[in-house]
Amino acid sequence: MSTLRPLAVVFAALLVAAAALPAQAGKGHVHGLATLKVAVDGETLTLTLESPLDNLLGFERAPRDDAERRAVATMAERLRNPEKMLLPAAAARCTLAEVRLTSLVLAGTPAHDAPAGAAGAAAAAKPADGHGDLMAQYRYRCAAPAELRSVEVRFFESFRRLASINAQVAGAKGQSAKRLTPKQSVLKL
Ligand SMILES: [Zn+2]
Repeated sequence: MSTLRPLAVVFAALLVAAAALPAQAGKGHVHGLATLKVAVDGETLTLTLESPLDNLLGFERAPRDDAERRAVATMAERLRNPEKMLLPAAAARCTLAEVRLTSLVLAGTPAHDAPAGAAGAAAAAKPADGHGDLMAQYRYRCAAPAELRSVEVRFFESFRRLASINAQVAGAKGQSAKRLTPKQSVLKL
């Protein structure tokens, strides 16, 4: 297989394949399930988690009171500090270069095109289908990418409502897919 194929094309193919799985049938998301795209490109390791907010937060709309606002802040803090949740193989010597969180519950993220003002924000905070997602993107720079043979994925311990993750890997060795669970949390690259 050509390794020159752009990663975007590989991902598009994987997404089409994933769409055929029963667990992802329909246009809505599935509570308990998340997807993780893993791309290795030279020294750069990029992991993109997409999850229903329910898995991470227990609700899928803008927070309505202080307790819910604290829950959002706690979730964001955990996701921005993935040291115990994402463990690239130590020998690869990867360091986290960037984290980007995108979700309707996080102020200032480009998840929606809200008009300015409270009315616009309120409208944007209420997804049309009653569901909401979060995307967390992690970019690592790895000093020894040849040693990057695995990533351990341990979001489950921090987010108990998350039961499994459909992982899709695209790298120099080609593409693969695996379902991760609390008991099967190591992703071979
Ligand atoms: Zn939902």
